Amino acid sequence: MSESADVAIVGAGMIGLAIAFELAERGASVRVYDRGEPAGAASWAGAGMLAPYTETANDEALMALCAASLGEYPRFVERVRAAGGVDPRLHLDGIVHAAFGETQLARLQQRAAAIRQRGVECQMLDRTETLAAEPWLGAHVSGAMFVAAEGYIDNRRLGRALVAACRERGVAIARPSSLAVDCDARRVLGVRTDMGYAPTGAVVNAAGAWAAAVPGVPASSRPPVVPRKGQMLALETPVGFVRHATWVTNGYLVPRDDGRLLVGATDEQAGFDLRITAAGIAALLDAALTAAPSLAGFTVSETWAGLRPATSDGRPFIGPAPLDGLFVAAGHYRNGILLAPVTARLIAECVGGRIAGDLAAFSLARAAAEMETPLRGKNKAV
Ligand SMILES: Cc1cc2nc3c(=O)[nH]c(=O)nc-3n(C[C@H](O)[C@H](O)[C@H](O)COP(=O)(O)OP(=O)(O)OC[C@H]3O[C@@H](n4cnc5c(N)ncnc54)[C@H](O)[C@@H]3O)c2cc1C
Repeated sequence: MSESADVAIVGAGMIGLAIAFELAERGASVRVYDRGEPAGAASWAGAGMLAPYTETANDEALMALCAASLGEYPRFVERVRAAGGVDPRLHLDGIVHAAFGETQLARLQQRAAAIRQRGVECQMLDRTETLAAEPWLGAHVSGAMFVAAEGYIDNRRLGRALVAACRERGVAIARPSSLAVDCDARRVLGVRTDMGYAPTGAVVNAAGAWAAAVPGVPASSRPPVVPRKGQMLALETPVGFVRHATWVTNGYLVPRDDGRLLVGATDEQAGFDLRITAAGIAALLDAALTAAPSLAGFTVSETWAGLRPATSDGRPFIGPAPLDGLFVAAGHYRNGILLAPVTARLIAECVGGRIAGDLAAFSLARAAAEMETPLRGKNKAV
């Protein structure tokens, strides 16, 4: 563990692994460090929805980034599958937004018009069409919006696929129990762990919800990222029972190929607490069963929680930090699975000294004025 690497990445979540894979495919020698299980934190806990148009309605820059990443997804998944042999099961066959009552329906009609204005295919379904598409929804459903380009991926499989693809491309994945970035006043020099010292020319901070506290990083280069807890649960349904990822009031349901139906998610300011709470599970079940009483008899097979890496404006930090050789790729909040391909490409371009687009909207500099401001907003579902 004392060999040097062109690039060291702190954090083996979806973001760190995607960057490692991209850099390795471009010929760099890469070492990824994680104190826990690779792809085991938020990237394991997420729902895997790929929904730029329905998740990021009020932020043009973020929506454009998310849409770019969605466009890159099929090729990214194909490259990862080809390298490591694991198919992460990408489904880009549309997302349903169910409406219950005339007010919700009218709101969705407005959103559909806005989405169509971007040239994105978006259909309104009446009640009969909605129930034909998703017969498990309650008879009180009023209609739905259907965004054909969106979808979901099995993020736990994608994590395994990325680990396999990285290993196949020669990326070293280390599990130190202590780690500190080594730097002088101007630039990064290496990474020191309990396993040894590794000199490196570039370090990428991809430490998710913990990115603000990576040891050794000077204060001016720390991204102000905070944890936002999300609780979820899974129901055992027959395979194909739910066909599309579906938004309902105060929640969403995302199917898996084996019949598991994910119900998500709370969004709580609870620090680094990962407990499953009665209130959290009650909120999820209430959202699911209010939308679809037909789900009531299925077994709850799993409950879990994860920490979204959140920022005060909801945008991630992607790009160089003030310290030479240090890059940041953290704070992807609710869209880190979706944003993995575009983040990997942008960071690979930055590390290679070539920034393709304007990254000002995602720069660390924008946060300098509000380093101490935590994400505002009270706890809520989804
Ligand atoms: C309930 C829930 C639902 C979600 N649903 C979706 C969704 O539908 N679609 C979507 O796109 N996104 C979703 N997200 C968001 C998405 O999961 C995250 O944005 C994404 O996983 C963040 O990836 P990451 O690699 O930055 O962080 P993580 O996956 O958390 O990985 C960070 C890694 O860094 C390691 N680390 C931290 N500090 C150190 C250190 N000092 N030394 C060594 N290692 C360190 C950690 O151990 C961890 O493995 C959801 C998240 C949650 C919690």
